[in-house]
Amino acid sequence: MKDLSLENYEAMRSKAQDFCATSWPLSGPEADLPFREQVIFWQKHAINAGFLHRSIPAEYGGGGMAPDIRAEMIIKREFAESDVPYLESTPNGPQFLVPALLECGTETQNQKYIERTLTGEFDWCQGYSEPNAGSDLAALSSRAELTNDGWLINGQKIWTSNAHSANMMFGVFRTEKDAKRHRGVSFLIIPMDMPGILAQPIKTMHGSMDDICEVFFDDVIVPAENIVGERGDGWRVTRSVLKYERLWLADTSVVRVQFNRLLTLAEQTLRGGRPAITNPHIRQTLSEIEAWVRCQELLIERLIAAESHGAGEQLSGEMQFVKLLATKTQDAVAQLAFDLIAESGLLAPNGADLTTLLNLPKIVSERRWANAFFASLANALGGGTSNMQRNAIGENLLGLPRDIRGAG
Ligand SMILES: Cc1cc2nc3c(=O)[nH]c(=O)nc-3n(C[C@H](O)[C@H](O)[C@H](O)COP(=O)(O)OP(=O)(O)OC[C@H]3O[C@@H](n4cnc5c(N)ncnc54)[C@H](O)[C@@H]3O)c2cc1C
Repeated sequence: MKDLSLENYEAMRSKAQDFCATSWPLSGPEADLPFREQVIFWQKHAINAGFLHRSIPAEYGGGGMAPDIRAEMIIKREFAESDVPYLESTPNGPQFLVPALLECGTETQNQKYIERTLTGEFDWCQGYSEPNAGSDLAALSSRAELTNDGWLINGQKIWTSNAHSANMMFGVFRTEKDAKRHRGVSFLIIPMDMPGILAQPIKTMHGSMDDICEVFFDDVIVPAENIVGERGDGWRVTRSVLKYERLWLADTSVVRVQFNRLLTLAEQTLRGGRPAITNPHIRQTLSEIEAWVRCQELLIERLIAAESHGAGEQLSGEMQFVKLLATKTQDAVAQLAFDLIAESGLLAPNGADLTTLLNLPKIVSERRWANAFFASLANALGGGTSNMQRNAIGENLLGLPRDIRGAG
């Protein structure tokens, strides 16, 4: 029987705090490794200590424990508050692909990819969007043709986060000539060092970092076994990955940490010679934002309660709200912070590098509020736009008539 007592979870919180305080920065010979290898070393340590990837089966390198969302939320919150590098690897692999592989992959694929993904040795980008296929992803046209040598891939992806630094891609490609739209696509795994791949960074307004790319495939060949699921069944795998991505984007630990730092900012900045937090208008806005943060936390609490009774699936509809709520809250936090810091928000601190969306806690801890503001705009698009989320909620949860779709 799982121990659901408050004491048990508070003990878990203390252990996580201790782990954060003692495990990073690394000491000993590992401290001299290149940064990426330090991160991999730390991630392995965090898995072995029972903090990361707890519910992934042990035979694939995870913790092998029963799922416990509350424990995971507590750990994430403590990790987000500290400097440990748990957000240094992109979430694409460990957070989105791995659970989808457990649902849709073969035993051989799970053995081959999961453990090395959890430790960060495989760092993934996701190849979905194309110049003419974003919200309407089923319109994608990049092709993969099965030949004697394997899948022959041609076409272009765009807005591919971290494509220039990742060593692996998963993505969806048109493989069935005669089947239309989502019925004709397959889910493929592509090592990024294959000849014929060109990843070119695109500059975006949410930072000067080159983390978003367009990727060109020119007669790229990958082995035939690099397909997840059946031929033409890539949509099912894609939906599975996107489901986990939306849950990750809705992570309440990051939003709560951001809100707490916003409160500190409001205490430390002045309005009319007094701390901004005493200004009635700012207090009102802070209260409204906290209500949104709390709504999100309560939604997660409901999920935790349902999961503990084995009824988590029944809440999958409501979970569609979570990404929308997170987007709204992050936007409100960033807008107010931007107002509070006024013109100093136009400067990068000490000429430092601007950072990425993946490092939201870092953005906030280093007072990079201007970046948080631009990142919040990007968050309303990445992983499915807010408009599309509203469509899904209207149709799937509220039973409204379906929106007009493309042919097929
Ligand atoms: C920071 C960031 C990271 C990203 N990372 C990746 C990545 O790693 N891999 C990847 O494949 N993609 C990635 N994307 C792309 C992202 O998934 C797409 O931007 C998104 O799906 C929207 O597609 P689009 O840009 O083509 O816009 P469009 O689909 O052209 O939409 C334009 C506007 O029209 C609205 N709209 C479109 N259709 C409808 C409709 N039916 N009803 C109501 N409104 C509609 C949209 O909400 C949006 O406001 C990323 C995007 C961002 C911003």
